[in-house]
Amino acid sequence: MAEPVQPQRGSILVTEPLPNLPLKGCFHYQEGYYYFRNVGNRILLGGARNTSFATENTTDTQVHPTIESALHTFLQEHFLVKGEVSISHQWSGTMGFTAGKMPVLHQPVKGLFQACGCNGMGVALTPILAKQWVNIL
Ligand SMILES: Cc1cc2nc3c(=O)[nH]c(=O)nc-3n(C[C@H](O)[C@H](O)[C@H](O)COP(=O)(O)OP(=O)(O)OC[C@H]3O[C@@H](n4cnc5c(N)ncnc54)[C@H](O)[C@@H]3O)c2cc1C
Repeated sequence: MAEPVQPQRGSILVTEPLPNLPLKGCFHYQEGYYYFRNVGNRILLGGARNTSFATENTTDTQVHPTIESALHTFLQEHFLVKGEVSISHQWSGTMGFTAGKMPVLHQPVKGLFQACGCNGMGVALTPILAKQWVNIL
């Protein structure tokens, strides 16, 4: 029986263009609970699940007000964005988490292989998992 995979919602926002944005590159903060990068002269900021784990244990895609507020506060405190921040895009997605922080490799039926529960690192991990799995088959 494969280890259970729990959903955790990840929420993202993108600001309108900000004049003289000095930020260039990808960054993370607080053990990766916050992550941000520039998209041209906009800021893409995501995370803040650690401010409200219980509400984020869901497959619902509505951005929760607690998370939205935490992301806005982060923008104002860390990028010194004064006043109301104009947000051009906002969305969320669902990640799969396991209790042991290890991904789940599962063969639900003969010939079908499933790698899931990558704890928010599915892009990075799944090609490696697939390659390793093929090598041991
Ligand atoms: C907020 C957030 C942040 C993340 N950050 C990272 C990160 O920093 N690093 C990292 O490695 N991973 C990260 N991930 C995880 C990563 O995005 C996923 O592991 C990866 O996208 C999974 O790829 P996939 O192709 O399996 O599924 P998806 O990318 O979800 O693609 C599935 C596609 O199938 C389509 N689809 C679904 N059902 C149907 C249907 N019935 N018919 C037709 N089409 C359908 C969907 O529309 C979608 O386009 C993050 C995920 C989220 C939500």
